[in-house]
Amino acid sequence: MDQNTVVELVKPDPAAPGEGWREGDVWLAGGTFLLSLPLPQIRRFRDLSELGWTPVEVNDAGLEIAATCKVSELMAYQPDPGWAAGPLLHDCVRAFLASFKVWNGQTVGGNICTSIPAGPMTTMACALDADYLLISPDGSERTVPAIDFVTGNNVNILRPGELMRKLTISAAALNRRYALRRFSLTKAGRSSVFLVGTRDPESGEFLLTVSAATIHPFHIRDAGVPSAAALLDMLAEIPDDKYFDDPNGRPDHRKHMTDLFAEEIRSELAN
Ligand SMILES: Cc1cc2nc3c(=O)[nH]c(=O)nc-3n(C[C@H](O)[C@H](O)[C@H](O)COP(=O)(O)OP(=O)(O)OC[C@H]3O[C@@H](n4cnc5c(N)ncnc54)[C@H](O)[C@@H]3O)c2cc1C
Repeated sequence: MDQNTVVELVKPDPAAPGEGWREGDVWLAGGTFLLSLPLPQIRRFRDLSELGWTPVEVNDAGLEIAATCKVSELMAYQPDPGWAAGPLLHDCVRAFLASFKVWNGQTVGGNICTSIPAGPMTTMACALDADYLLISPDGSERTVPAIDFVTGNNVNILRPGELMRKLTISAAALNRRYALRRFSLTKAGRSSVFLVGTRDPESGEFLLTVSAATIHPFHIRDAGVPSAAALLDMLAEIPDDKYFDDPNGRPDHRKHMTDLFAEEIRSELAN
């Protein structure tokens, strides 16, 4: 849809993208969310499409994915076959309910910053224990763990004008075994439950990411694979009012499926 309150398209300076930020500005990535509902408070789009950030890069830190990396570019990227969790990148892209236009337009950062519970790029980043680099309009930077970023349905910790620059995933996280379970009401529907478990091949650490079922992702971490009863106890610490309620699923159904999937993942990773 047209955003007819927008009066200017700003091309940010790649060296200082937030410079000149003012009220009514909004970062424009793929635009698939921004152009899908009325947002009359917007006056200017700050276009991220020409900043020239390399979409995906492997370096000493592990894997870096630019916020502006298109989801289709992530799908085209072939991760190192030695990374046990490499295929999870594509599994998460496939979890999108998206038309051709959304599939080819949307970006990894745009999906994470939209911060809806069913955002599969959030699931991917949390499951792989990613960090996000955020840049303020004054140029100062902070790094935050992915699990702390989304705090509610369409709510996150971004401050006014703050820009997501990239995600960093460590090589250690990519070396972990993983198992996932996803539920949606229809075959190609939006996720109403999306759980990913990983296990470190050396330390044996177990990490379960609960997403889509809850208004923001939760981590359950243990030194080893917990017993079935211990896992249920840890899941019970997720407050009932954090389970999401929308036409894709009731909170009690989401909780039920979360417990069921968590046990399947636990048992798969225990072997
Ligand atoms: C038909 C349709 C189907 C959809 N299906 C799904 C689905 O299955 N799952 C899902 O999660 N979503 C879905 N969406 C919602 C949305 O389109 C996606 O979340 C999409 O991934 C957003 O990415 P984008 O690059 O287009 O972001 P944009 O629309 O450009 O931006 C989204 C928000 O993020 C902010 N933003 C973008 N990039 C940055 C950045 N680098 N730093 C700071 N802020 C930034 C923008 O200012 C805006 O607030 C769907 C939307 C439509 C219209």
